[in-house]
Amino acid sequence: MEILEVINLNKIYGKGENKVIALKNINLVFEKGKFTSIIGPSGSGKSTLLHCIAGLDNITSGKVIIDGKNISKLKEEELSKFRREKFGFIFQSFNLIPVMSVYDNIVLPVTIDNKKIDKNYIKNILDLLKIKDEINKFPNELSGGQQQRVAIARALVNKPEIIFADEPTGNLDSKTTDDVMNLLKICVDEFEQTLVMITHNNDIAKMADVCIAIQDGNISNVV
Ligand code: ADP
Repeated sequence: MEILEVINLNKIYGKGENKVIALKNINLVFEKGKFTSIIGPSGSGKSTLLHCIAGLDNITSGKVIIDGKNISKLKEEELSKFRREKFGFIFQSFNLIPVMSVYDNIVLPVTIDNKKIDKNYIKNILDLLKIKDEINKFPNELSGGQQQRVAIARALVNKPEIIFADEPTGNLDSKTTDDVMNLLKICVDEFEQTLVMITHNNDIAKMADVCIAIQDGNISNVV
């Protein structure tokens, strides 16, 4: 079943001399419960594509349809609610809130909407990510790898339908990379979540069900 469809997507940054055509007439379909990796050289348009399909950036033309809804037509408020309820984001920069404890950072996407915290589910995530001893600390007391795992826990806490990840293991050592990938695979295989991940790591790209290669703003290959 398809969960996300991209139709004739174009993205242009700037105007006149500064104009950059970042994405050219992209058409893609993402299936529910599958892991899709996005690869390509630096500057090819990977992050732009991820941001456009996740409703984090305006598109210049075309359609992004998620769960039957054209997200480019949603008002900003509707879109941010849609994002909070359906998406989890994992970026290279962790964007943790320094004055909040690790635990409060993790549950923020739930508490912000006054929803109930699923303590068992959170305990599972903390165990799998090996951060349960850190929950009362503050982000600046953690290593980079630990902060990334906290950011991953936060992205998963709402049980998102789609997890968008931009090089989530880029700053991690190989052992932590394996732990993170194992957890994300569990999300896909057992919880039927859909994972869309940019990576430079060929081994990770190959773990995906579908691998999209992008070059100069065009899809150069889908396998
Ligand atoms: P990648 O993620 O593959 O490294 P990006 O999506 O970041 O590539 O960038 C694609 C192209 O769009 C590049 O030429 C980049 O310089 C340009 N670009 C990205 N973001 C902006 C922006 N905010 N303003 C202008 N140009 C941008």
